[in-house]
Amino acid sequence: MLSDFARTMVTDFSIQAILDELVGRIVEMLPVTAAGVTLISPGAEPRYVAASDGSALRFEQLQTDLGEGPCLAACQSNETISVPDLHAEGRFPTFTARALEAGLVAVFALPLRHRKHQLGALDLYRDSAGELNAEAMIAAQTLADVTTAYLVNAEARADLEESSRRYRHISLHDPLTGLPNRVLLMERLEQAILRSRRSALSAAALFIDLDQFKGVNDRYGHGVGDDVLVEVARRLSDVLRPGDTLARVSGDEFVAVCEEVTTVAQAEGLVARLDAALARPLVLPGSVELSISASVGVAFTGQDVVAEDVVDASDKAMYRAKQAGGARHEFLNARDRGIATYEAGLQRDLHGLLGRDELHLAYQPIVETADGHLTGVEALLRWRHPSRGLVMPSVLVPLAERAGEIPAIGKWVLEGASAEQDHWQHAYPVSDVTMSVNVSAQQLMSDGFVATVAAIVRARCSPPERLVLEMTESVSVQDGQRALALLNDLKELGVKLALDDFGTGYSSLSYLRQFPFDIVKIDQTFIAGLARDQASQIIVASTIQLAHELGLTVTAEGVETIEQHHELIRLGCDSCQGFYFARPMASAGIDTLIDPLGNGNHLPARTLAQIKR
Ligand code: C2E
Ligand code: MG
Ligand code: MG
Repeated sequence: MLSDFARTMVTDFSIQAILDELVGRIVEMLPVTAAGVTLISPGAEPRYVAASDGSALRFEQLQTDLGEGPCLAACQSNETISVPDLHAEGRFPTFTARALEAGLVAVFALPLRHRKHQLGALDLYRDSAGELNAEAMIAAQTLADVTTAYLVNAEARADLEESSRRYRHISLHDPLTGLPNRVLLMERLEQAILRSRRSALSAAALFIDLDQFKGVNDRYGHGVGDDVLVEVARRLSDVLRPGDTLARVSGDEFVAVCEEVTTVAQAEGLVARLDAALARPLVLPGSVELSISASVGVAFTGQDVVAEDVVDASDKAMYRAKQAGGARHEFLNARDRGIATYEAGLQRDLHGLLGRDELHLAYQPIVETADGHLTGVEALLRWRHPSRGLVMPSVLVPLAERAGEIPAIGKWVLEGASAEQDHWQHAYPVSDVTMSVNVSAQQLMSDGFVATVAAIVRARCSPPERLVLEMTESVSVQDGQRALALLNDLKELGVKLALDDFGTGYSSLSYLRQFPFDIVKIDQTFIAGLARDQASQIIVASTIQLAHELGLTVTAEGVETIEQHHELIRLGCDSCQGFYFARPMASAGIDTLIDPLGNGNHLPARTLAQIKR
């Protein structure tokens, strides 16, 4: 019997099953009619964990009810209590009377002990009087010890399970909000994808990013910021269903996974509920009311996606919502999903990019509208990817921003463009060609950007005013005050500032007055409409007029036809850039455009238009 039990010890046994087996076998082996195991724990009533039959259970129960009896005494005294004949027993009068009535005659209770701890007792019952002989007592004690070993083992196992459960909880949850973290989110999403494959009902992932949360931290401190996050987590959880998962994946970013959400309308309902939950003003210490909004990106699971793709896709959609000004939501459609997968691959390859010599710059001429003479170039970033071919900046820049690589890449662009300009200055001393470099909003806001530009400006031979930094209206979306201060700092360095893609943002013409721009570049969508629709004409004409009144010069982007060029001459636009004049080209192409004989940069538009890479 012992060897049977020894074997089960090393398997994944159920303690209840083992104890049931134990009490059953004891009755077969020893001259007793029933057996039971009672456990005690400090401050709690004794518990029976096993009984060989109904009578054993009743006797154990009787002792608990009465608070006396040999088994309890064994538990408490930690000694074996032998009652060979209850008729002659005086220690437990109430129990004895009731037990005799129920047909019990002899009881032997052996304490279960482990080191100094009493765990309970192994109780042997008989319906006839008589001692257990020494051999039987030794066997009983051995079995009691075995029982103890099982119990201690079970307890250790339960402790281990509990601590590994606790550890798992800690490692899978966000300590601040108690929500699942990214690891658990991915696990749950993976399961949701598996289920959705079986049910053919897709799940939706909602990427929720709070708008202007950084401002909350900056203004009220991180303690308040944390409180806001906890409250936001609570509100978002409240509107989700019990089976949904809400995770906090970083600072102010949450992801909700909602199963069986298959239509855009359903997802929109969900977003509306989340928005409404956030919309109620939050009261901060000092009765300050704060209203919160979020940018939400939605992506659905599909047949052949993995969790990573779905989260990336929702993240990408969120990013679009954010770019569009925040407090809105965007969906990722099938086409975008393909793009997202493509971009996920690129994202991985971004790592170490600057060390691999895969980036280069193309330069697109900017000419004077009136006579087509070359006045400047714009440096445009290109990534020659070894397997995916040429990656354009509209793809690369947002990826680099997300990966935190934009400050380094932007610095590389500024340095490369400056070196090229110095080369032209050196080779063609009369050259006064300006160099325009694009600066993304995140790059402008990144730590040390002004210092980086200052160092580059100092290291250049070309004068600072021939360096133009181009930025879009999005620079002021996050933190307009800070953007303004940074732009003023840049102006101090002597560089020129251009407002790029003007008209595509949501800000008004008053923008031109508030920010210290020198040049406004009218977006190509309006230039494309010039010869076609009156609205574009009016917008272009009034932008040129207003800019001139404010002392800014105007560049038209994306000039593709002679009609557009003529219209821009008529409207008095200062400069033009576009395929009609020249496409972006390698720097050697620009060399041939800058008059090598020192006669200035006068080249007719026709000539420029013919130079195509
Ligand atoms: P952007 O600054 O507005 O640059 C002009 C874009 O319009 C360029 O696209 C150029 O190739 C394209 N373009 C020029 N003329 C025409 C035309 O006549 N027709 C048409 N359809 N397109 C024309 P590209 O090179 O793909 O650059 C896209 C955007 O990526 C740029 O827009 C700029 O915002 C950004 N970008 C480019 N290089 C950099 C960089 O080094 N850093 C950062 N942060 N952004 C960059
Ligand atoms: Mg530009
Ligand atoms: Mg532009």
